[in-house]
Amino acid sequence: MSFFNELGKKLSQAGQDAAQQTKIFAETTKISSYISDEEKRIDDLYKQIGKSYFEANRNNGSDIYAAQIAEIVNSQNKILEYQQQIRDIKGIKNCPNCGAELNKNSGFCSSCGYNVTAAASVNEAPVDTTPINTVPAYTIPVPVENSPLNLNKNGEESENNAEN
Ligand SMILES: [Zn+2]
Repeated sequence: MSFFNELGKKLSQAGQDAAQQTKIFAETTKISSYISDEEKRIDDLYKQIGKSYFEANRNNGSDIYAAQIAEIVNSQNKILEYQQQIRDIKGIKNCPNCGAELNKNSGFCSSCGYNVTAAASVNEAPVDTTPINTVPAYTIPVPVENSPLNLNKNGEESENNAEN
């Protein structure tokens, strides 16, 4: 009898352990999700701070994050270029007044009636120059960073040449 009593105790203990493990798992999973929520909140705030910092310092070429700012500006300009490529492929342009997509050759906006032809030379200029004007000042630090890489490449090439 004592054997069965012992076994019964062990089984009920095992059951309690399993229940305890399930409870622990449920509680820690719940708390872990709270941690994830807070981490996401922090990431969003980092992003807000970063964006504000970028806007405040994008014209400060001597900022400690000038290289990163330059990379963002570079990426923003690439996006503008890619968007223009899409417009070119689609054969469209955007109305400078309302933003509607128009046939490249349209003289007037079919959405708002804006005279696109007359506005084209006037309106395209500021849209294009604003981002582009900011590029040369910031793209300068980037090639400087690249130059050590070029030196390394040259070094590897000369080694390869020596082997050949
Ligand atoms: Zn329009």
